[in-house]
Amino acid sequence: MTEVYEIKGEDGTVLEVLAADDEPQGEAAEPYTTPEPAETPEPEPVEPTATVSIASRASWGARYPDGDLTLTGPAVEVWVHHSVTAQLSSDATVAAEAEQMRALESVGQTRFGTGISYNVVIFPSGRAYQGVSWNRRGTHTGGRNSTSRSICFAGNYEANNPTAAQISTAAAIYGYGKDRWWTRGAPLGGHRDVSQTACPGRNLYARLDDIRAGEGSTPPSPGEPGGLIVDGFWGSSTTRRLQQELGTPVDGVVSSQSVVWRDVNPGLTTGWRWVSDAQGSRVIAALQRKIGMASGDRDGKIGPETIRALQRYLGTRVDGVISRDSSAVMALQRRLNDGRV
Ligand SMILES: [Zn+2]
Repeated sequence: MTEVYEIKGEDGTVLEVLAADDEPQGEAAEPYTTPEPAETPEPEPVEPTATVSIASRASWGARYPDGDLTLTGPAVEVWVHHSVTAQLSSDATVAAEAEQMRALESVGQTRFGTGISYNVVIFPSGRAYQGVSWNRRGTHTGGRNSTSRSICFAGNYEANNPTAAQISTAAAIYGYGKDRWWTRGAPLGGHRDVSQTACPGRNLYARLDDIRAGEGSTPPSPGEPGGLIVDGFWGSSTTRRLQQELGTPVDGVVSSQSVVWRDVNPGLTTGWRWVSDAQGSRVIAALQRKIGMASGDRDGKIGPETIRALQRYLGTRVDGVISRDSSAVMALQRRLNDGRV
């Protein structure tokens, strides 16, 4: 008998339903194979690239099995889900998201004994985490687990709106998978198209076309997560990616910076708020921490001292200014595209 796990809303609506697939009679251990397996699965199905960064299972501390079967063929369908677990904010920390991944894994483990249910999980920050590996069978789309892959948005999108960062990440992942064995341009739909459930919620369901638009759009347009142009100018796009990486509010704005440093740093462009009585910004304070500045020096304000520390950290020329097409900013942009600051 197939185990089914339903999550219901207060009005009885089935917000999400997870189910394991029945295995072929007497062949429980046989891996599923598509009619025409076109190529050998790569050992590491997805690596961080210039366009898409998916944090590994190890990064969030996966503790349970990675699905139950190895799938050797590409997906024939991709389904979008929502998890109906905690609704984190767009400025949630990586640690908070990792905790949610482990919570989600516990649900799948408790119900099916096969670890986390979904292939990839995207949080409001726009960060994505690998759930059940692309080449392993999960328990996301009952009856279709063996032939499809799943993209899950963490939270409840019947009640909440997905963030722009989430949609961008999902589109980039879908687009990136187009030419790769694990999705191969398979059509994308919402879970509710094939099951009695509201999943992935009406607010996310309304955005599926935006995710589908990721198909063939590699890399995503400048400013989308992971798709930064390495041009050495630090504007809103670079700030937005930095904010995502450092876990501060994502708005592309560096607030309250001292105007005396504006003209001497022409590489700092859009999204910088220059004022006479600077209070500093959270993203710069987080950066100061990241690059090893002493706690007493983390004032959230850009200036020669912070820029020199950044240049030392990045291994570029140390002169304390961000020039036009700055080599330090290019190094920073490369690291952001690689998913590491
Ligand atoms: Zn679902």
